[in-house]
Amino acid sequence: MPFQDLRQFLDLLEEKGELVRIEKEVDLKYEIGAYIRKTSDAQGPALLFEKVRGHKIPVVGGVFAKMNLGLMALEATREKVLQKFVDGIKNPIPPKPASAAPCQDVVIRGAEVDLNKLPNLIYSAKDAGPYITVGVQISKDPETGSKNASIYRMQVKSKNRLGLMSHAFQHLATQIAKSEKIGQPLDIAIPLGMDPVIPYASQVKAPYGFDELEIAGGIRGQPVEVVKCKTVDLEVPATAEIVIEGKVLPNVRELEGPFGEFTGFYGQQENNFVVEVTAITHRKNPIYQAGLTGLPTTENHILKQFAYEAALYEKLKKEYPEVQNIHYSPAGGAQFFAIISLKQRYKGEAKNIILSALGDSSRPKFVVAVDEDVDIYDPIKVLWAMNFRMQPSEDVIIIPNTAGGPLDPSVSEKEVTSVIGVDATRRFGVTFPEVVTIPGVDAVKIPNPRE
Ligand code: MN
Repeated sequence: MPFQDLRQFLDLLEEKGELVRIEKEVDLKYEIGAYIRKTSDAQGPALLFEKVRGHKIPVVGGVFAKMNLGLMALEATREKVLQKFVDGIKNPIPPKPASAAPCQDVVIRGAEVDLNKLPNLIYSAKDAGPYITVGVQISKDPETGSKNASIYRMQVKSKNRLGLMSHAFQHLATQIAKSEKIGQPLDIAIPLGMDPVIPYASQVKAPYGFDELEIAGGIRGQPVEVVKCKTVDLEVPATAEIVIEGKVLPNVRELEGPFGEFTGFYGQQENNFVVEVTAITHRKNPIYQAGLTGLPTTENHILKQFAYEAALYEKLKKEYPEVQNIHYSPAGGAQFFAIISLKQRYKGEAKNIILSALGDSSRPKFVVAVDEDVDIYDPIKVLWAMNFRMQPSEDVIIIPNTAGGPLDPSVSEKEVTSVIGVDATRRFGVTFPEVVTIPGVDAVKIPNPRE
């Protein structure tokens, strides 16, 4: 059975010893962020902050601070999670109307709206102010009505104003561009704190016009239950903890940022979209979900990883059934650095697969191909293959001047990058030296000295 809301998932985490309550009073400025950083680096539990200075709403953070928590959210193992995503993408289930609307237990509209009453965190040292980081932005194409759900960073600017970053090639910005053409604001709804499958599904790079909530339904095996918003023409998951409703103002840009980003660097201050908030609704006694990003690995990287892997896997597998597995390493922000394993069938195949991956619209910058015997989740094994199955003069492809990730600080011209492919598979068609093994290793059990 899929989780019905965030609370059910937190209950499971607590039961399994994967959620710890922090009773000490903590500050929204840096302190909660520091706790989440610490638990992420230590591969520790999720944290529930019961006493937040100046606020009544408790904050939960580090909910996906390590791989294991992400897999629990998706009710899958590391081996099965890709297929679970692929099945969800291939068998989407549309949302259905809910019979009750807990997310609207309390409705605050108009002049009563005050974003500062939400415990929005200041995460990193040079962030421009408080940010909302794991809200899922839900919106519709103003012409076709097709829906979109994804996560974009939002800076809290005043009691009813948010800065929002979305780049031109992304789906929300595409919808905003269309609404600006007809001089209309774009309705937007931002649920916070949901069944964890929903934020995971929102990270799938689905084609434009494809509703990621349907993918969430596909992964859950049950539709996401939604309710109509109070002040905008959109539907949101009925059991969300908090929902922000508003309008993206047409042809308005304001400075937003800097903000500590998933690359591990600050995303610079730039002119970005503005959301005017029309309502805030929430459950009785809501829980606010915080989400850290920054230097890998954080919950942001865990959140992105599976969706990026599954989308590229599904695409490549159609053309190249020899592809065995794909991993987006957190080292590349779970977006720039893809490792692909394959069973080579003919000479040059690995390079063709690399080129296909480098051309993916998710814009990977660094693609490494390895043979099927390499554990792609183990960086040492991948680096081993790159050292001993690769010849730099024959196996490296570099292509200049492609469109790159907007937040990559290494480029000399914004969003223009060079990309690299490394073929670290065995030379094809010759007898490649055998890998060293020792018979019987799997059968060995090392005694526990404490027993
Ligand atoms: Mn989309």
